[in-house]
Order: sequence, then structure tokens, then C-alpha cells
Amino acid sequence: MPAYPRLHLLPGKDRSVRRRHPWIFSGALAPLPEGLTEGEVVEVYDDAGEYLATGHYQIGSIAVRILSFAKVDVAAPFWREQLERAIRWRRQLGLGSQGETNMYRLIHGEGDGLPGLIVDIYGKVAVIQCHSVGFFHVRAELASLLVELMAGDITAVYDKSAATVPYKAGLDAQDGFLLGSGDTWTGQEHGLTYQIDLAEGQKTGFFLDQRENRARLAHYARGHKVLNTFCYTGGFSIAALQGGAALVHSVDSSRPAIERTRAHVLHNFGPEAAHEAFATDAFDFLAKPPAEYDLVVLDPPAFAKHRKVLDRARKGYRRLNRAALEMLPPGGILFTFSCSQVMTRDLFREAVFTAAAQAGRRVRILEQLSQPADHPVSIYHPEGEYLKGLILGVE
Ligand code: SAH
Repeated sequence: MPAYPRLHLLPGKDRSVRRRHPWIFSGALAPLPEGLTEGEVVEVYDDAGEYLATGHYQIGSIAVRILSFAKVDVAAPFWREQLERAIRWRRQLGLGSQGETNMYRLIHGEGDGLPGLIVDIYGKVAVIQCHSVGFFHVRAELASLLVELMAGDITAVYDKSAATVPYKAGLDAQDGFLLGSGDTWTGQEHGLTYQIDLAEGQKTGFFLDQRENRARLAHYARGHKVLNTFCYTGGFSIAALQGGAALVHSVDSSRPAIERTRAHVLHNFGPEAAHEAFATDAFDFLAKPPAEYDLVVLDPPAFAKHRKVLDRARKGYRRLNRAALEMLPPGGILFTFSCSQVMTRDLFREAVFTAAAQAGRRVRILEQLSQPADHPVSIYHPEGEYLKGLILGVE
């Protein structure tokens, strides 16, 4: 076992780590040992010298991201075991090259016991996204292990960490291939084909977290006139068309996203599909809709990234939901989402409740939606639950 630097907690600051919370905040730590470098593996001890955890050290409010609650050598066999475990769970979920969905999240940070690491799979390519300096340092090692363990399923690994590793760490991170190469990558979600733009796409290229909610939309869509706002590259639109929607309108403010939406519709349903896409602001579009819709999807970006702006975010959700609820005819359906972590399930529901009351409509909750099983939540880290949605029936 290597002699990792030892960090000590201040007296009385050990409760959260004893409850297996995966983060140690800087304020809980006694003065740090000399010469500690960012991204290093460290061991954490309580003030009496009892071992508690091993993790990656980083400068900032979250000082340690915990990788293990038992002493461990953080080297190749450890990473192998972690990756094998994540792969096993995805196979259990039916995700992978054998099924009709080969784009999915393989590693979801804290939910997979690896805080600071995201790995998404799109068909033959894996995208690694490091949110911590510690993982950034081992990304090449993880890439080789991934190719080996995925046994022919993936042929390339792309690193997309430039925007997610801490800027202040001065890593000069550049996005690009760690292994293999390629220009066009496609993946299948429930048998539908999507093209993934690794370099320019949002997140790692696609909003994989909405997969099961898109399937719910397909289930409701038959015969409906659907408006999909904040459509990105058209995931919900494609699902609606698959489900037999009579008409689908897609709206996003990003022009490249709208172009990609059109290409996805064309590829999956041909030129005759009852679909139109609009590159415009969703709030403006809702104020003057060009058609009548009886099913609306609201999937805005996180209005609140911090607690400080929560109030403004709540107003944003209220305004958006009110506009959609006022527009829908009796019998209409609303799929409404929030992916903002600080907007809790209760707060979101309250915002939609206020919107319904302001719109003066009779509204029933048909289903409550969440993030899928390849975006797991550690029971010790409830903050990991971020995506919530409601399917509402409107009269
Ligand atoms: N529903 C999508 C993901 C939505 S992500 C899917 O299933 O893939 C949020 C999207 O909102 C982004 O594509 C972003 O470009 C878009 N967006 C942000 N602000 C917007 C605005 N004011 N009007 C319209 N689109 C907006």
C-alpha cells in the first residue's frame, strides 16, 4: 500500500463521512500537510487518528472526493474493479451492444462511487468527462481499461473535460481522442438512431438522462399535436413521431441543434414526416404559437445552478409552465421537467402548482418522472438526484 498523504478532520467533523457522504468540505479539515498537490490520492483520518476514507484531493470547497471507505491502493486493479462493476450494472439494465439501446451512461460520478467522473457510451465511442483534477490525471489509464473491458464494443475514447475540470487548476485541458479516432458517431436509443457531435454537442453530446421519459412520451403521443420546446437535437420529437404523433413542432434557440433535429427526423422517418423545427426562443414561441397543440414538452436548461438564483429560477419555471397550461385545450397533456439540482422535487412541484393555479386550470398528475437507472443516485448522496418531471393531464 503506498503511503498516501494523510489529511485529518477537525474534531466533530467526522459525522458526514461516517455516513458515507462522498465529499469532504475544506472547512472540515485540519491544516493540510506540506507539499500536497491538487489531484493527489489522500487518506482521511479523524482527529483521533482513525482511518475513514481514501479519495482525490482538490483545492476548493469540496476538498476530497471519496473513492473508498476502506484502505486501498488506488492503482490499475482498483480502477478495473470499479469499471467492471459499472459495466455489470449496465448489462443488468439491458444497455449495450446486444440490445436496442447502445447509448447510455456507463459511469455517473457519485452514483457509481466515482465522484468526479462521467463516462458516456455512444455506440462505438466512449466519452470521458472529468470534473476533478484527480480523474483528469488518470484519464488515459481509464481509457485503455475501458477499451479492454468493453471487449470490442467500443473502438475509441474521447476526452471532453476542457470545460469541466477546474479552470484554476491550470491543466490546459484540450478535448480530443485518447484512443482511436473518427468523425461521425451514431448511437441507438430504443432502436432510433442519433448522430452525436462529440466536439460541439452539449454535455457529452446527448441528453441521455431523458431516455425513459422519451419512451413515456412515445407511449402518450398517438394522434396528438405535439410541441417540443427546448428540443436540443430532437430526442422527444423523434420519440413522439415514433409513438404516432399527428404533428410535431420542435423549438430550440440553438441553430445547430435545430439543424441536427431536422437531420434526425429525416434519418429516422424520411422527408414526409409531419415535423417542423424552429430556431427561436421558447418563451417567445409560446407567446405566439403558430399552431394548436394538445401535448407540450417543457425541458428547459437548469434555470438555477446555484442556490442564490433559486428565486429567479422558480419564477422562470412558473412562467413557462403557466404559458403551456394556458395554451393546452381540455384533455391536453404536459410533460414538464427541471434538471436543476437545487430545485428540489418539492420546489418544482410547488412552482408547477402555482402555474396551474394562475392559469386557472384543473390539473392532475398522471406520472412522476425521474432520471434513469444508468444515472443512479447513491443513497448516501441525495444531492445526486437532479432530474424530475411530471406528466400532467389538463382540463
Ligand atoms: N430535451 C432535450 C434536452 C434539452 S437541454 C433532449 O431531450 O435532448 C436544453 C436546451 O434548451 C438546449 O438545447 C438549449 O439550446 C435550449 N435553450 C436554452 N435556452 C433556450 C430558450 N430561451 N429558448 C429555446 N431554447 C433554449
